[in-house]
Amino acid sequence: MVELRGVHKSYGSVEVLKGVDLTVARGEVVAVIGPSGGGKSTLLRCVNLLEPVTRGQVLLEDEDLTGPGVDLNRVRRRIGMVFQQFNLFPQLSAVDNLTLAPRKLLRMPEDQARERATALLARVGLAGRADAYPRHLSGGQQQRVAVARALMMDPQVMLFDEVTSALDPELVGEVLDVMRDLARSGMTMLCVTHEMGFARELGDRLVFVDGGVIAEEGRPADVLDRPRNDRTRQFLRKVL
Ligand code: ATP
Ligand code: MG
Repeated sequence: MVELRGVHKSYGSVEVLKGVDLTVARGEVVAVIGPSGGGKSTLLRCVNLLEPVTRGQVLLEDEDLTGPGVDLNRVRRRIGMVFQQFNLFPQLSAVDNLTLAPRKLLRMPEDQARERATALLARVGLAGRADAYPRHLSGGQQQRVAVARALMMDPQVMLFDEVTSALDPELVGEVLDVMRDLARSGMTMLCVTHEMGFARELGDRLVFVDGGVIAEEGRPADVLDRPRNDRTRQFLRKVL
């Protein structure tokens, strides 16, 4: 579904990704862990071309996204992304946050967009809050709106970058529940996370990113319980 081949990313003379090879199969949930500054966010941003790669290839369903003449907007519609900061439009209600992009980019008729948005808000447990503004929603509710908004475009892949890190501990579970539901529905997901329990439970695979490379990967239980790499071991000692 998604394939990274020898992806390098530099900012000026600083090489942040130093050759990343990663394949995510359809319906697979891949959890990405690793120390701060290791390149996890950069890796996700290269997948949906928020960052152009310096070298290497990114493929989505065998189409080379890094090739010439690729329509960036079309690519981003096929790949949904949710960030640590919810990034909702503060001046728009929950439902309007969902309908804006489909109406503008897909020219989806208003009633159709609202119908779809209402269904997705219900799916993330916010059926009654469609008309609420972000400032009147808790962090967990805002993040669930952000997930629903990303689903509006019916993406083939969802990228999650530490989506629970900014939340109060008691709100983490409700967002993880939504991600669990999505994973079980067969969504292909690439999730940068600090939630080792989540990675263990839902990850089909765990990838440890450090120093701009995938230093170790495997089944979550294997990597978490029996890390083979010294750096993985050191990292896990700190976070577990
Ligand atoms: P964290 O766990 O703190 O989110 P991360 O693994 O997501 O870290 P990245 O955000 O991908 O790490 O950053 C990797 C490295 O790239 C860091 O050293 C960072 O300073 C650098 N970097 C990221 N974005 C830029 C940028 N736009 N310009 C220059 N350097 C950048
Ligand atoms: Mg990051």
